[in-house]
Amino acid sequence: MAHFVSLQRNPPSPEDDIDVLFADAAGNARAGLWGFMDGSTACTVKITGPGSATPGMKYGNTTQVWTFTGLTAASRIQGFSGTRPFTGVLEVHIGAAGASLGEQNKALLAGSDPDERARVAGAFVPAVPLEKAIGDYHYAPKMGTVRGLAVHITAGGGAADSLKKTFEDRGASTHFVIDRAGSIVQYVAASIRAQAQGPGNGHFLSVEMVGVGAASGACQTMTGPQLTTLRGLWGWVRERHSGVPNKLARAFAGRKALGTELAEVYVKLAHALGSSPVGSGVSDSIAACIDSYGLSCHYWLDTAVKPCPGVGIMGQLPQVLGQPDRVAVAGDGKYILA
Ligand SMILES: [Zn+2]
Repeated sequence: MAHFVSLQRNPPSPEDDIDVLFADAAGNARAGLWGFMDGSTACTVKITGPGSATPGMKYGNTTQVWTFTGLTAASRIQGFSGTRPFTGVLEVHIGAAGASLGEQNKALLAGSDPDERARVAGAFVPAVPLEKAIGDYHYAPKMGTVRGLAVHITAGGGAADSLKKTFEDRGASTHFVIDRAGSIVQYVAASIRAQAQGPGNGHFLSVEMVGVGAASGACQTMTGPQLTTLRGLWGWVRERHSGVPNKLARAFAGRKALGTELAEVYVKLAHALGSSPVGSGVSDSIAACIDSYGLSCHYWLDTAVKPCPGVGIMGQLPQVLGQPDRVAVAGDGKYILA
């Protein structure tokens, strides 16, 4: 079987799978068909509904580039080997108005598309649209297949709506922020990538929990109101993305250069979480963690050496999924701030 990929890498990578094709306002788009050879037969791409598909350049026998025109939200795209379906069906979303990604983000967050704006506790969450520090790659600013939600800590204080300038100045961002009182704000529309967790940006939506971090790597845990709001957000992620299970994604059990003792606590915690009732096992490969589905966190999805979101919040992740208690491991106490 083959699947469609974004064209963010050259050559395209099978890891960059998409389940929605985002066309521009005029209905134009491009995507790669990875695995397009069925033995000696080259696949064709057909559109049900409006639009046309034209094959283009090939990367060896792995990926062929397809160009689409005249698409609408009613168009459905599928690859075929002869008459036999050879891919899943790609949905089409037509881009928001606005020349720049910042303008598009603003338009999407001013709208009422339930795929773009989170609803928590029965209402759209308030929005503070970022104009910069979004869309991490020029040719693929949109999310690929959403595999879950990544939890972070801000390592600072403040209200949920106070971080626009901080994000834009730092060139880092997140889809959502939840403050200590449990208030939530959306900064980035859900179809646009936030710049939150490096190589995990394309497949995981992101949320920052407001909380303090220390130079030692010690961080605060989530407050009760934060946990309640995060549960609501998680419910929305799963409602919009039916492939996301009510489980943890694979936990990263490799070692990063954080300092021996803290790195060791993270390894122990990964094993405890990965084998918990809501766990999906562990891996020492960040790529393998990105290639899994469920609730995740910054540390498990990025090659960068940062303790985010801290052992306290990591241990609380099962509580987001309905488990009663935080998962604790020996030696974690000194890395948890009151
Ligand atoms: Zn983070």
